[in-house]
Amino acid sequence: QASIESVIGSVKRLGKALPPVAVKLDRSLKLQDLVKVRILGVGTFGKVWLVSHKKTQIPYALKMLSKREIIGHHQVEGVIREKNIMSSIDHPFVVNLVNTFQDPKHLYMLIELVQGGELFSVIHTEVRDGIPNPNARFYAACILQSLSHLHHRNICYRDLKPENILIDSKGYGVLVDLGFAKVVMDKTYTLCGTPEYLAPEIILSKGHDKGVDYWAYGVLIYEMLVGRSPFYTYGSDQVSLFKRIVQVKYGFPEGIVNDLAQDLITRLIVRRQANRFGCLARGDMDIRDHPWFAVIDTDKLLNKKIPAPWVPR
Ligand code: ADP
Ligand code: MG
Repeated sequence: QASIESVIGSVKRLGKALPPVAVKLDRSLKLQDLVKVRILGVGTFGKVWLVSHKKTQIPYALKMLSKREIIGHHQVEGVIREKNIMSSIDHPFVVNLVNTFQDPKHLYMLIELVQGGELFSVIHTEVRDGIPNPNARFYAACILQSLSHLHHRNICYRDLKPENILIDSKGYGVLVDLGFAKVVMDKTYTLCGTPEYLAPEIILSKGHDKGVDYWAYGVLIYEMLVGRSPFYTYGSDQVSLFKRIVQVKYGFPEGIVNDLAQDLITRLIVRRQANRFGCLARGDMDIRDHPWFAVIDTDKLLNKKIPAPWVPR
């Protein structure tokens, strides 16, 4: 294994190292046991309610999805996928699905409540846009953990943005909304199981879809630090935005982003996946080991032993 890893970085790249986490829904919880308190957010196919359990008083988020809307938008498969992925994931920085229900008109997802609101509102307030370097690094470290947990299970998240990161009661970043998440098994990966038989093109294989999450991750770090996304310019249309993106046309405003952060962002926002951090032989280790994260103790982070920059009241 060591000699194989010296070439391909980690045998995890072979894609079969980690089994999915067992599905663990709490089927004893019933829809009738819950009372609606208020609306937490509006989703694509319905509202997300703050609900409370009548007996235990435990608050949850209840995502309601209209069957008519889902069918009308041909999203039946997508919603089933969201449910399956969410119920198979168990990680402190990925939102936890508690149970699912349905009635003739709706599907319901009962989700662990993440009470501190969106990272978006932390980055963008009435008085300023952008957050200090250590704070951005803290949230980035959380999300790196969520992403690698998904990626090691061949799940590509595909919708990384500040609106989909919520702040939990301890102030940690939690990934919500797995509506676009998808199991992406690169064909070249699934075809091989036995290291001795690896073809060169598998060992040299570079492009796969998880790379989109690392691009988005670079954009996220930029937005946290700068207060706007790198390719955004005021009043410009979508075509020119896409042009700037494919040409990777962006810059850093003078004196805002520290050198280490700039270095990491520049290695993530890279046009060719073959050259992008997160997509190279060492996978997410290149990001974890980057000097910007040197002060982060991953074990402490995962055990929520690092004081968060902001704790919701
Ligand atoms: P959609 O897939 O339609 O975008 P989301 O799952 O993103 O729906 O939910 C919409 C909004 O509801 C989120 O942006 C967030 O503000 C709120 N929300 C979703 N899940 C939770 C949760 N577990 N705790 C608190 N708020 C939530
Ligand atoms: Mg969403």
